[in-house]
Formats: sequence, C-alpha cells, structure tokens
Amino acid sequence: MKSLEIEKNLSLEEKNKKVVWPHISPYREDKAPMVVESGKGSWIEDTHGNRYLDGMSGLWCVNVGYGREELAKAAYDQMLEMAYTPMTQSHVPAIELAEKINELLDDDYMIFYSNSGSDANEVAFKIARQYHQQHDDPNRFKIVSRYRAYHGSSMGALSATGQALRKYKYEPLSTGFLHVAPPDNYRKPEDMTVEQYNIQKARELEEAIIWEQKETVAAVIMEPLISGGGILIPDASYVKEVERICKRHGVLLIIDEVICGFGRTGKAFGHQQFGVRPDMVTMAKGLTSGYSPLSITAVKKDIYEVFKQRGECSHFRHVNTFGGNPAACAVALKNIEIMEKENLFERAEKLGERLLDGLEELKNHPYVGDIRGMGLIIGIEIVEDKTTKEPGSDERVGKFISNCKSRGLIIGRNGETVSGQNNILALCPPLSSTDQDIEFILETVKEVFYENV
Ligand code: PLP
Repeated sequence: MKSLEIEKNLSLEEKNKKVVWPHISPYREDKAPMVVESGKGSWIEDTHGNRYLDGMSGLWCVNVGYGREELAKAAYDQMLEMAYTPMTQSHVPAIELAEKINELLDDDYMIFYSNSGSDANEVAFKIARQYHQQHDDPNRFKIVSRYRAYHGSSMGALSATGQALRKYKYEPLSTGFLHVAPPDNYRKPEDMTVEQYNIQKARELEEAIIWEQKETVAAVIMEPLISGGGILIPDASYVKEVERICKRHGVLLIIDEVICGFGRTGKAFGHQQFGVRPDMVTMAKGLTSGYSPLSITAVKKDIYEVFKQRGECSHFRHVNTFGGNPAACAVALKNIEIMEKENLFERAEKLGERLLDGLEELKNHPYVGDIRGMGLIIGIEIVEDKTTKEPGSDERVGKFISNCKSRGLIIGRNGETVSGQNNILALCPPLSSTDQDIEFILETVKEVFYENV
C-alpha cells in the first residue's frame, strides 16, 4: 500500500513528477516541469503565482489567447444540447463549421473531421493512396515530404516527418515515404538569387518524383513555411513551382496548415500567401485555439467524387470516435467568429511587422545569423560565427531561452529536429496580443541578447 500520508504532503511539482510523463522532455533530477494554473490573454500563471507571457501560444496554437469565456460557453451550451454524435452520422455544428472552413479556404472542399494534426495528415495519406487506386492509377503510393518538416507523431505522420531526431529509435516506420531538402534561404549559395535558389530546390523535388518513377508517387505534403523545423520561409516562386510540378506529374498536393492556419501568417491560411490551390489542406491547433482537440482534412470535391463509386471497399473506410465532437466544432466556430470580429488575421500581420522592425537591430549581434518571419511566426537563427554560419550550440540557445523565462517570457526553439541544427529560436505569441505585450517581448528579448554578447 502506498503511504497516502506522505503523498499528501508532496508539492504539486513533486506529485506531477511521480505520475505525469512529460512530452518530449529528457528526465532531469534537478528540475521539474512548470505546473500551470491559469491564463488570461497572452499571459499564464504557475502554481506559485509566477506570471509569464506565453510567446509560444502553448504549442503554437492558442491564437485567440487564454481565458475566453465565449469559448467555454460555446462548449457548455453544445454539451447540454448534444454532447456526442459519431461522424458516421452528422450534427449541426459539424455542418456549420464545414461551410465556414470552405468560406475561409475560398473553395469547395469536403471536410473530414479528426482529433489532432497527426490524425489529419494520416487521413490525407490514406485518401491520396485510395484516390489513385480508384482513379486508374493504382501504382501511386509514395508520399514526398521535406527534410526538417514535422508532420506528426503517429507512425505514418512521423514517416513523413523529415526530422531524424524525432524518428531515431522508433524506426523502421512506414514504407513509401521519401524526403527532399527544403529551401533554406539564409544558407543559400551566395552566387544565386533567392528566386534561382528556390526554383532549384523545386527542381530537386521534381527530380525525386521522376527518379522514383512518377507513376508510383501519390502526393507531396508540405507546410506553407516550415514552422517547428526552424521557421524556413520559402520564396513564393518555390511554392508556385511545386504546385506546377505536382500538376504536371499527376501528384496530389497536400498542404499542412496545422501551425500556419487560422491567421498565424497574417492570412486565414498560410498557402494563401503564395497563391496556390492545394488538393488537400490539413489543419488543427488554431482551429480551436487549443481549447478543444479537433482537426480537419479538407479534400477537393473532385477527389471526393471517386469515393462515390459503388465497387467493393470504394468508400473511405476510416473512422475515429472523437473526431468532429460537437462541442469541439462549436468551440471552433466561436473561435473563428472571435478571430473575424477582432480582425486577428490582420492583427497578426501588423504585430509581426512590429516585432520584425523592433528586432532588426539584433541583426548586428555577434550570435544572431538571421531574423525572419511571416505574421506572428518569427525565427531568430543563432550562430557561433556569422561568417561560417556554424549553428549556435545547444548551450548558447538554451541560455537565451532560460534567461527569457527568468524575466517572464516563454520563447521556443526547433528542439530535437535534426542533429546540430536545433539553433533557431521561435516567437509565436497569441494573435490577440496587446501592443504592450509585443513591447514586453521586444524589451525582454533585447535585454537578454545584450547581456549575452
Ligand atoms: N503538422 C505540423 C506542421 C505540426 O506542427 C504538428 C504539431 O506540432 C502536427 C502536424 C501534428 O499535430 P498534433 O500534435 O496535433 O498531432
């Protein structure tokens, strides 16, 4: 029997350490994860009353900020009205949300509901494979993605992920996934223009499709910009060219909007910054601002059409219990309503510009190689040497993060992605951040950088 008396006297941190397995964190004898108790706007508070500006919106998702009563009320009302309906049937918020998503996508998609970003990508891969089978192209099964990109933690989504450190010790994963290098404009060859370099990277992707035998390639999956993998922002020429390449070779284009969607880049969806029309769009996180688990795979109508065939197993045979939960859909609808009422997409663009302007002077800092961003997703690339661009050491990058935290600012990084290149700091605050919040971020980041010259 456990001694309940002893357990009762443990602090929350100690209890947490005994029973809760933290996500993607090495065990530390000397350190315990922060236990968060409350949040309001862009700020969170731990159980000791310490306040932090959450410069990462949780895990890049709390787009409308914390403590929104309307979202709690939307979930409450929906749970009383109808708490659960499987998506083998349907319900009112699922229909209304699907219509709203099509309005934001400005196109005609069928909406398939799941629980998480990983799920949404798994669904996209299965639809791509089955689509080709039923569309007289049965040998297409390979999925092309990019090194450094993250597409999720389940076996298929992890196979598409191009981050070796996330896969190490879990392999072998699913077969039929291959990777190509993304454009990394900061590290492009000096004798090439940004556009020449981006077109070359698109050509490499095309070569991979041809060398693999294009008749075996089902889809390309990519984020509009690589977010968690280091905030690598392509030139528009790259994204447009990849779209053309996919069309030319009969390959479907899946855009992963799990982070970039819902205003993060300054538009409803990140791919709208580049003027492309994907065959499928996956989304999660900002869809509910993290208030409820929900994700979507939006599928172009012409793809859906082939699932209407009446042959054996012609329908899409995928189900999940919680996907499209009525309360989660009601929360998503209210969340989008808040974003529209408060013009948060435009606000993300404006605040992003303010952050980039304010950080400009840090480009002269000896350890800052590059600062880049689109809307409210901003990366600061730390280097040991500005000439050689040697990536900043783990120790240096970790110090910037912990010094920000001790001043009340949480910032992120591309942690455990690829060996030796986990050197990009991330700023990704709620889109609802106030002007004062943004000034606090700027002041704190600058203070920390200047004391670590
Ligand atoms: N795709 C991208 C771009 C992501 O950043 C993530 C998560 O961070 C995922 C997919 C997976 O989403 P989830 O953690 O909800 O499964």
